[in-house]
Amino acid sequence: MTATVFIMPCLRRKMSTEMMKDIYDLTKTELGERLTDMGERPYRAKQIFSWLHERGASSFDDMTDISKDLRKRLKEEFIFGGLFLDTVQISKLDGTRKYLFAMEDKALIEGVRMKYRDWSTACISSQAGCAMGCRFCASTISGLDRDMTAGEMAQEIYLMERDAGNNISNVVIMGSGEPLLNYDNLMRFIDIITDPDGKGISQRNITVSTCGIVPGIRRLAEENRNGGHLQINLAISLHAPNDEKRKKIMPVAEKYGMDELMDAARFYYEKTHRRLTFEYALMAGENDSEEDARELAGRLKGLNALVNLIPVNPVRESGFRRPERENCVSFKNKLENFGINGSIRRELGSDIDGACGQLRMRKGKKS
Ligand code: SF4
Repeated sequence: MTATVFIMPCLRRKMSTEMMKDIYDLTKTELGERLTDMGERPYRAKQIFSWLHERGASSFDDMTDISKDLRKRLKEEFIFGGLFLDTVQISKLDGTRKYLFAMEDKALIEGVRMKYRDWSTACISSQAGCAMGCRFCASTISGLDRDMTAGEMAQEIYLMERDAGNNISNVVIMGSGEPLLNYDNLMRFIDIITDPDGKGISQRNITVSTCGIVPGIRRLAEENRNGGHLQINLAISLHAPNDEKRKKIMPVAEKYGMDELMDAARFYYEKTHRRLTFEYALMAGENDSEEDARELAGRLKGLNALVNLIPVNPVRESGFRRPERENCVSFKNKLENFGINGSIRRELGSDIDGACGQLRMRKGKKS
């Protein structure tokens, strides 16, 4: 059922290049400053930024409107990309592509490209591994390797586009890692991929998913870009209607209780006026009863919220079971009867290593 293509092993570069900065990591302004330091005209920054983030250059040599001399000096100053495609699995059912990427230090991360009609959504990782310990998640089993840089995060999108066409219009930061614990790189990434001289993705087409890092949500609510609040979408992983149940599956709940989390969510909504999404992984017998639906609805009352119901992915180590389809529908209907909008996430790529982190685990977390 599955097409698996092994692309290439992780490439290692010479020791001499390892301390150099990845050019993908620079914002357009920073690139301009570096070029000025190199004695170049500022307009070159726009040209080079566009080659990197819009025109899909695969090396400095692709930048044919840049002089050979400058290309040579760029090679001496910068690494061209620190992320490499290792493996891609292609679903025979719906064309979903699951990627395993390797970074310069051989840390592995995953991404998924989902196709909807004539556009695609990239689900990307923000950290290699994860320290948060959610019990139903394969990405956290080996803990956190390291934060990803903004350039590595952007390259997840560009390598997917190089593999399967240039039509990624939406980005969800919902792969491995807790993005709000990699905050500065996250913001830099958003600045880079929304730059109109680069990929130019609308903020409204970007979703950041958090397991509930309260200070991060508050900080995000206060962010100011070009005189206004951020317009990205925020998805909060709740997965339980109360602290008692949440603590059993999400260690983060020990630190940030439900009341505090809901206050932060409300604060985000008041500042940005963006509708909030709450992720709720349905686990048979754990959090899918009528009482759970009632309590959850009570929690979310008054918030402009959508509950995204996700039948839990069967990860061997977690022991959780997904409810039957009819029970998922019934839970959604109950929520709606209590006045809260719900949707059941469409399953894509169910014939490939579906749950986030499984492909990485199978391959070994470092190559
Ligand atoms: S669900 Fe997200 S936050 Fe929780 S362990 Fe997995 S990757 Fe980390």
